[in-house]
Amino acid sequence: MCGIVGYLGSSKACPILINGLLKLEYRGYDSAGISTIENNKIMCIKNKGRVKELQNIEEINSLNGSIGIAHTRWATHGKPSSINAHPHLDNSKTFSVVHNGIIENHRELRTFLNNAGYTFLSETDTEVIPNLIHYYYSKEASNEANRFVKSVKKAVQDLKGSYAIAVISSLEPDKIIVARKDSPLVIGVKNNDKYIASDIPAILEYTNNIYILDDGDIAELSSNQITFYDKNFNVVNKNIEVITWDAKSACKNGYEDYMLKEIYEQPTAIRETIGTILDDCKKCNFGNINITKDYLASLSRIYIIACGTAMHAGLAVKPIFERLTSIPVEVDVASEFRYRNPLIDEHTLIICISQSGETADTIAALKNSKLCGCKTIAISNVIGSSISREADFTLYTHAGPEIAVASTKAYTSQITILALLAIYFAEVLERHEDTIIQNLKEEILELPSKVSIILENTDLIKEFAKKIYKEKDLFFIGRSVDYATTMEASLKLKEISYIHSDAYQSGELKHGPIALIEDDVTVIGIITDKRLVDKSISNIQEVITRGAKTLIITNQEINNEIFPNIVHIPKVNPLLSPILSIIPLQLLAYYVSKEKGLDIDKPRNLAKSVTVE
Ligand code: GLU
Repeated sequence: MCGIVGYLGSSKACPILINGLLKLEYRGYDSAGISTIENNKIMCIKNKGRVKELQNIEEINSLNGSIGIAHTRWATHGKPSSINAHPHLDNSKTFSVVHNGIIENHRELRTFLNNAGYTFLSETDTEVIPNLIHYYYSKEASNEANRFVKSVKKAVQDLKGSYAIAVISSLEPDKIIVARKDSPLVIGVKNNDKYIASDIPAILEYTNNIYILDDGDIAELSSNQITFYDKNFNVVNKNIEVITWDAKSACKNGYEDYMLKEIYEQPTAIRETIGTILDDCKKCNFGNINITKDYLASLSRIYIIACGTAMHAGLAVKPIFERLTSIPVEVDVASEFRYRNPLIDEHTLIICISQSGETADTIAALKNSKLCGCKTIAISNVIGSSISREADFTLYTHAGPEIAVASTKAYTSQITILALLAIYFAEVLERHEDTIIQNLKEEILELPSKVSIILENTDLIKEFAKKIYKEKDLFFIGRSVDYATTMEASLKLKEISYIHSDAYQSGELKHGPIALIEDDVTVIGIITDKRLVDKSISNIQEVITRGAKTLIITNQEINNEIFPNIVHIPKVNPLLSPILSIIPLQLLAYYVSKEKGLDIDKPRNLAKSVTVE
């Protein structure tokens, strides 16, 4: 998820690696580290904090090797600390690994390696990798050709989850082996020098001749060649791509803005968030969260407390919690909840959501709830953030660093983890037939590919953005769970395009707001619940009759000839549809803002992490 840099060539590696890490700082990280090989020995220097602090460590100056790997870590397993920072070494200190991503089966692999005599220093999922590589290396015959790369191949075959890794070894000190799955990795070349990076900007200063690794690829780099292997371990040829980006677009991996990049990262963010909890349809694994059947059965209410987009994630999951647990759920804005003396006690469970984990109002609401005897669960995207120190339990989304102020991938990841939590509660409570739960799990596992399908078809959204970008006011309407999505869609549009909009329950229009509908007013409707199609369509018809122009986001069969501008999204259980139906509307907000020529990533007056009350 964060940054990898590697170098093998004729120059001193350390300055090139540090320079590369500095170029990746924009991604956000919590620790940094570097490994080189000096006189056939692996050196490893790592530290919690900034790359600058790593540079200030004196021993860094004594690294003279011309081969090395480096990393900026964005913690997913284990708090930010020097021990948890990468690179990680195996027990014999002969292999050093940097890793981006999440190893979902790290617990099983730890147990396997423990039984084989290996021990662990860190809390990370990553530390299994160098030890697995050592395990396989020691099993290969010492005269085996390609022993190093074969050991890496065997190790990665055991990994479930996502990874981009770079490995060096003092036993074969002239090589770097890299591998990737669901996490990017590229190799740059210039003369005989070779560079590795998780993101192109890290090495663009040195070369724009880049090999892009595909999923499942492994490559062996040595001074005179690079051998590429595909996912079946067949040697393959790859073509160099010449990158023509300028430095700014390079940071965004070729996307024009971070927000667009983050919208397109949603399949990965959702997949990684699901991955640690559910890798098939077995029971949800929420680690050591201590929620018993008796406790859940004793609850009179669940409160979901958050601000802004995170509060909308709460609204989006209220139906799935209520449906699966039969416990009433209230969703409240943190700044209101704190001051209204809510009726809460030990029979109330409080779930607080904050992407950054630093939202002052949400943290204050959580603290107040604890004083009233409530159990508290925090949902955050940042390991070790303030909220995790206050809550009884913290569950982490794995969306990766979100840089654009307007939240996109954190939002859909929050809904994903909360939907899984609702399923977990249902399993603990045993209030539902297995098939309902199993079907929902299967649908959750399919979400990343359904999001990808939506992201491939954006023409209509771009066209519609051109039609509406000059407007001053518009409406979003939806029923039931789609209403939650209209709230978030309206907020997204306000945040980055500065166009005012209102979100209404479709059935409420006729109780007042329909007075505002006249020629050419825009109304955007969401329809994803089969039971409500007819009623919702009638509401759209009512506004068309009064001259409105409409856009419909739907996964139902609606007549294109009667209703223009329909964006079709994949079918899904309505309880999960907020994860899909918001995607076209995130894109709409983005393209409207683009048409207006605004600063999309840093909208006026807004901050990413709201630490004031
Ligand atoms: N899962 C790994 C860790 O927590 C890698 C995190 C990253 O991608 O930076 O150490």
